[in-house]
Amino acid sequence: MLELKNLTCGYGTFEAVDDLSLTLQPGTITALLGANGAGKSSTLMCIAGHVQLHRGGIAFEGRDIGALPPPDRVRLGLAISPEGRRLFKDLSVEDNLRVGGMIRPKTDFPQDRDKVLSLFPRLGERLASLAGNLSGGEQQMLAIGRALMARPKLLMIDELSLGLMPKVIDLCYRALQKLREEGLTILLVEQNTDRALSVADQVCVLESGRTVWRGSAQDAARDPDLAAAYLGLH
Ligand code: ATP
Repeated sequence: MLELKNLTCGYGTFEAVDDLSLTLQPGTITALLGANGAGKSSTLMCIAGHVQLHRGGIAFEGRDIGALPPPDRVRLGLAISPEGRRLFKDLSVEDNLRVGGMIRPKTDFPQDRDKVLSLFPRLGERLASLAGNLSGGEQQMLAIGRALMARPKLLMIDELSLGLMPKVIDLCYRALQKLREEGLTILLVEQNTDRALSVADQVCVLESGRTVWRGSAQDAARDPDLAAAYLGLH
């Protein structure tokens, strides 16, 4: 589905991510883990086309997308729920969903909106509310829902559980599992490593932009050195 080959990206001459190679199989969840500043968000934003690719390649379904502008990547099937959610706070929930579905024919809107609402019924009760008036959990659901409106094949989510109550985190993680069952490929950035390991198929750990560990989630959970050094688990 997605192949990162020696991806190096950053800001000006600064390299936030150095030489990252990672392959995402269709219908799987990959967790990108690491401390603050490790380069997780930069990786997602580079795949989406918002952070400059310095070297290496990004192939999506076998096609080199490294030079494509962000909207073209969305059209190919790549969507992101970014760090901080970046909702249109003065627009209603429904209009935020509408923006997410802008690349789709207008006639798809009711069906795609209803699919998001079946995943997150709470949003159905808040359709006319301004996004800025939603709770943190509702905003996270809306950010994911807005990304899903583009009918992506690959969904990238930055900091899924940050600042959310455990009940809402459960709900979001159940949604991810459901989406994977439907065949969606997911790349998840998390600081909450326990949660991420509980659903991930594959794990990649970054430290200061470099890959320090990559493998199955099962092996990650069993590796005591990895757990203590990088994942904050004991
Ligand atoms: P966090 O959880 O804190 O967001 P992260 O693992 O997602 O951490 P990034 O946000 O990708 O890390 O940051 C990686 C490096 O790039 C850091 O050193 C950060 O200071 C730097 N960086 C991030 N955004 C910018 C920017 N817009 N301009 C310059 N440097 C940046």
